[in-house]
Amino acid sequence: MAAGGQTTVIQRILERRAERPPVNAEETTASIAVMLRVVPPPKALLMILDPNVRQIIERRITSDILDYLSLPEEAEALRRFTDEYRPVVITDSMELVRRLRARGGERAPFILYISDLDESSEREAGLAAGADDSVGRRATERELDARIAAARRIAELEAVLRITLAENRKLSATDDLTRVASRRFFSKHFPREMERAARYGRGLSLILCDIDHFKKLNDTLGHAAGDHILRGFGARLQQNLRRGVDWVARIGGEEFAIVLPETPYEPALEVARKLRAAIAKTPFSYDRKSIEVTASFGLCGLDRVPAGERQLAQRVLKIADAALYRSKNSGRNRVTATMFGGTT
Ligand code: GH3
Ligand code: MG
Ligand code: MG
Repeated sequence: MAAGGQTTVIQRILERRAERPPVNAEETTASIAVMLRVVPPPKALLMILDPNVRQIIERRITSDILDYLSLPEEAEALRRFTDEYRPVVITDSMELVRRLRARGGERAPFILYISDLDESSEREAGLAAGADDSVGRRATERELDARIAAARRIAELEAVLRITLAENRKLSATDDLTRVASRRFFSKHFPREMERAARYGRGLSLILCDIDHFKKLNDTLGHAAGDHILRGFGARLQQNLRRGVDWVARIGGEEFAIVLPETPYEPALEVARKLRAAIAKTPFSYDRKSIEVTASFGLCGLDRVPAGERQLAQRVLKIADAALYRSKNSGRNRVTATMFGGTT
């Protein structure tokens, strides 16, 4: 993990959270059950060469079990699978099993192989080719139903896992790309920093910054270069701040917020100037290219955070944003500062 103040702050909060009793296991089980009920039936691909077997299987699968597409031919099946991923494949073609497994890719479907003969050596061959399960073509309806239900269950669990991971990412305290605090973290903890400062009658400052002409940089060097620079940008901000006190959050695509607790206007202005210089002075490097990056800064500083003010965090944010806007409009790569309740 990158060194820097904000990391330590988040670390402390996560540690505190870890001390709390974990969410009830029963609750988790209940929410998984709910999710399983609401996810639509998994999509499946049927590619069964034998028309009799195809008919039997199609009759067993109602639309509430699997949302399937049935094709009688390998090449077409493979093409449709490439167009739209399907988490379940049911087939009597060993060739399709092999080709699906040879594809690689980040997602692998659950493959149920229907063997021509009911002998175990036939079914084993299907498994060896890469199928996850296999069943003889003359299996009883009950066995067939049970195997299809198992395939469906695996696909559903994978869907639930994906939803949960995506949700967790959204709820995360840190930003995935830059590892600085997330927008969510900022929204919650910046007002808290303000309240704390108000309680003790301390100063506090907020800096907003936005990378200049970042779109052009993305367009000319590519998105990967853009991501690389965003990462380096966040790290460089952190390196120039007090560890364990000041913290950085990524609050937009290429927009960052820097919270400076116990820092009145003047020293905060010094910090903003230092950050601007730290970005502009040393070019970033990517793919052996040297890339000059600048950013515009807006500061709102409070020498003493007043108590009992409504919506103070929002007002400070708005003032810093207006200052940033002025930096952009007056030529970029500069700092504009506003003292709260005072003049520019
Ligand atoms: P300005 O100096 O006025 O701020 O110009 P700008 O080009 O930086 O601002 P604009 O808002 O027009 O463009 C921001 C760009 O940032 C557009 C978007 O593609 C890019 N961007 C946003 N998030 C990401 C990201 O996560 N990765 C990359 N590579 N680019 C991103
Ligand atoms: Mg920008
Ligand atoms: Mg922007």
